[in-house]
This record gives sequence, C-alpha cells and structure tokens, in this order.
Amino acid sequence: MNIKTKLSHIYQNICKDTGGENESPKLIVVVRLLTLIMLVYTLIDCILTLYTQHAGGNFFCFLSLILFLVIFVLSYYCKTFVSYCILNLYILAWIISNVVYFGWNIGVQHFLLTLLVFCYFSKYQHNGAKIAYSVFLVLLRITLYYYCHSHDPYIMLNPAANDAFQIVNTLAIFISIAMIAYVFSTDTQALEGKLIEYNERLQKQANTDTLTGLYNRRKTIEYLDTLLKSTDNQISICLCDIDFFKRVNDTYGHDIGDVVLKTLSQTFQKELPKDSFISRWGGEEFLFIFPKLNGDEANAALENLRQKIKAIVFDGGIEKFSVSMTFGLVEYDYHNDLNTILKQADEKLYIGKGSGRDRVVY
Ligand code: GH3
Ligand code: MG
Ligand code: MG
Repeated sequence: MNIKTKLSHIYQNICKDTGGENESPKLIVVVRLLTLIMLVYTLIDCILTLYTQHAGGNFFCFLSLILFLVIFVLSYYCKTFVSYCILNLYILAWIISNVVYFGWNIGVQHFLLTLLVFCYFSKYQHNGAKIAYSVFLVLLRITLYYYCHSHDPYIMLNPAANDAFQIVNTLAIFISIAMIAYVFSTDTQALEGKLIEYNERLQKQANTDTLTGLYNRRKTIEYLDTLLKSTDNQISICLCDIDFFKRVNDTYGHDIGDVVLKTLSQTFQKELPKDSFISRWGGEEFLFIFPKLNGDEANAALENLRQKIKAIVFDGGIEKFSVSMTFGLVEYDYHNDLNTILKQADEKLYIGKGSGRDRVVY
C-alpha cells in the first residue's frame, strides 16, 4: 500500500458515519479530527516534556495521550452527542490541569477558543445553551488567569521550554479552529442527501405493502384520484382475488399462504404490461390499474396472467399444489366517480366467484 492509499484509507475511517438516521456526519468527523489533532499535540508535548526531565510532567503528558486515544476509539462506539460531550469535558479538564501544572505562559488556555468555536457549530445545543456555555468559557479563562496570578505552576518550565510549548500550542489551536471552520463551512450536501434518502425511504414504506412489496391501498387511492383527474386516456381497472385461499392456509399453513401471496405478486409484476399499477388491495385481493389500456387490451393481458398463475406449482410440503384467481374488470368511461368504478369491479369479481371462479369477468 503506498502512502496515498494509506492516507485515503485513514481519511475514510475518520469519515465513517455513525449510522444514525438523523446524526450529523460532520460533527463526528470534527470530533475525530479534533481528537487526532490533540493526539498529535500531546505526543509532541510528551517529547518536549522528556527534555524537561520532570517525572510528574512526563506522566501527565502520557496520561493525556492515552486518554485522547481512548476518546478517539470511543467515537466509533458512542452516539455523536456522547462523543462530543466526552471530548468537550476532557479538553476542559485537560486545559485546567495544564494551566495548573505548567502555568499561564505556555498558552494552553487559548484552547478555550477552540471549544467556543466548536460549540457554535454543534446542532445539538440550543442557542441559550450555546450562550451559557460561552459565558462559562469566558469566566473559566478569567478564573484561570487570576489563579495563575496567585499560584505558581507545579512544574516550572524554563523560558526556552515555555517558548517551545507556546509555539506548539499556537499551531494546534490555529489548526483545530481552521479545521472546524473548514469542515462545517463546506456544503451541507452530505447531510441533505442523507435526509432526502431517509424521506424517500419513509415515503416508500408508507406507500407499500410489507409482505408483497406492492403498492398498498392508501397509495392506490391516491394514484387513482390523480390519474382520473389528469388523463383522458382509456383506463381499465381490475379487482381480483385468489380462489379458495383460506383452504391454502388451512391445508399448508399460513407461511405457505404468504409464499403464495409473494410469488403471485412477483408474477403480476412480471406478466402485466409495463405501465400497470399493481397493488395489494387487502388480504388476498389485488387491484390493477392499466392507465393506457382499453377494456379489451386489459382483458387479453389478464387472460394471459390467469393462465400463468394456474401454471405455477407451489410446494406445500405434504404435496404440490397450484392456485387460480378470479378477476373483475371495468373500463373507465369518464362518467363515474372512483367509488362507483371500484363498486363495478367488485360486482364483476363477485359474479366471477359465483360462476365457478378462475376467470376474467369483463
Ligand atoms: P374465495 O375463493 O371466495 O375468495 O375464497 P377464499 O378462501 O379465498 O376467501 P376467504 O375470504 O374465505 O379467505 C381469505 C383468506 O385469506 C383468509 C385469510 O386468512 C387469508 N389471508 C388474508 N391475508 C393473508 C396474509 O397476509 N397471509 C396469509 N397467509 N393469508 C392471508
Ligand atoms: Mg379469495
Ligand atoms: Mg377475498
């Protein structure tokens, strides 16, 4: 693997989404990137403190390094908001202890600015909470300032070490603020795309029958309503029903009954003309709408379907079996409303059931 592929692999891992439907992918990316910056930063700190040869300082830096590593790993397991909170709390604790340990001169308190910028990009906090958090950050900075006036740091760094820390801090703060601003200022397409996809999925769920994947009754009425208002094409409508389906369930079990419903639904989709609107009207009843076929054309298509259905052999466990269907077909004549057409189709179906089933009544 060359360095470019390696870097792209690392980047993909950082961008790995949290998977939650309404989670912001950007926030978790920033949490991870900020933790990585802090990791690199503390690693440099560790090296610098080695030169100070102060055991307490070394221990403090290595502990920080390990905790940032833990937070980075946790960001892949926790919800975005939890990761965001953990990182915020830890950076706060880290700033306070750094100021107490190393003093004001290394400039670590400026990381409070990073937290300030970060909090304004988080969608989780309300404006009131953001303002309250900002006030808290300002007060914390002032408190730390006065604390340093009256207390000496635990670890007194020499001027050269102070300068080195100051430069590393400045770099880390500028990079982290720039990174946060960059990630959040790029277009919001990723989140928008996710929301659109989510909405489409919800809409599909609301319009389809879960067992067969066909349109459900709600969507069918909606479709018919708009179709009848908008077209002057010839339309044919067919209500159909599986014959003696109760017997299938009673003989072979409900699961086999479900297999029959699914297989027949696939057959409708395969055999009926391309423009047909196919729906599960309820139970073992289906409604077909042929928006471009007159009654004769629809009749021919249904005859073909009827034959195909009869030819399917189902495995009922104890024996093989097949089913038939009865169809009630009407041609829309532009005089009747939706309810009347459906009633007519139902009457035809009833006639078919009464006259021996397994037929198309037109
Ligand atoms: P007919 O020829 O007069 O239509 O007789 P039928 O037995 O098909 O009609 P009936 O209305 O007496 O029975 C319909 C059966 O369809 C009863 C019901 O349990 C079954 N059914 C409805 N929905 C489902 C389903 O989702 N899965 C299964 N397995 N069976 C279903
Ligand atoms: Mg039936
Ligand atoms: Mg029925």
